[in-house]
Amino acid sequence: MTLQGKTALVTGAGRGIGRAIALKLARNGAFVAVNSYSSQNADAVVAEIHALGGQALALSADISSSDSVTKLFDALLAQRERLDILVNNAGILRDRLLLRMSDEDWNAMIDTNLKSVFLCTRAAIKPMLRARCGRIINISSIAAFNGNPGQACYAATKAGIIGFTRSASREVAKHGITVNAVAPGFIETDMTAGLSDKQKAKLISCIPAGFPGTAQDVAETVAFIASDAARYITGQVITVDGGLTTV
Ligand code: NAP
Repeated sequence: MTLQGKTALVTGAGRGIGRAIALKLARNGAFVAVNSYSSQNADAVVAEIHALGGQALALSADISSSDSVTKLFDALLAQRERLDILVNNAGILRDRLLLRMSDEDWNAMIDTNLKSVFLCTRAAIKPMLRARCGRIINISSIAAFNGNPGQACYAATKAGIIGFTRSASREVAKHGITVNAVAPGFIETDMTAGLSDKQKAKLISCIPAGFPGTAQDVAETVAFIASDAARYITGQVITVDGGLTTV
């Protein structure tokens, strides 16, 4: 599943799942553009990739803003002629019961988790259409299927990503571009670090595999979908959740 000669962009790759995806794609041979909000985090991941002998470029940008995304793609395409793989991973979680959900929190989650997927995909398909190949991988969540109290907005963004993925896949399939979603379950990252031990134990008790996933578990799946081996898979949602959504 080599990605030698491919260029990938991973959003939100400064920490957690995005970082693991960036490292995995780089290990498989891709040149990786590492985006995160903070330039410090993006630089640190680029340094890790360089230390592994890989190739990478830090591109910090706020992917919820149309102007920032335009600048990010201008900077990337000035350095690389093509973009083969886009991983729309960046996301935020602001758990709020509906009565306490502010317009600001709602808009921040919609813009960061969902609008960014549209902005980055729109920018990425131009070079992909020219090359007549590409892989777009959108990180959703199992919250899209079941929902959770306090996560009405977060779940709506993650369900929106699935609708977006299915429609976009049909739009570009004839041009050699695949669009898929990956829906992680409970993965131990900064995003879930705020859960209490009691909440974690309750969640783990519902997972048939009996343990939480790691960012690496998600990265392995993304690397497969990004590879030539997955050329006939498109419009799909692949869950990485230790069996949680089957119960
Ligand atoms: P995380 O540890 O909180 O990392 C989030 C990353 O997104 C960070 O690198 C952050 O940048 C970046 N980011 C946030 N807002 C951004 C913006 N406006 N522009 C650019 N980058 C931005 O989260 P995670 O757990 O790795 O989650 C990654 C994705 O997986 C998210 O979409 C999340 O919804 C999804 N997911 C996670 C889980 C889980 O259990 N962890 C489960 C299902 C789905 P900085 O580093 O600069 O702060």
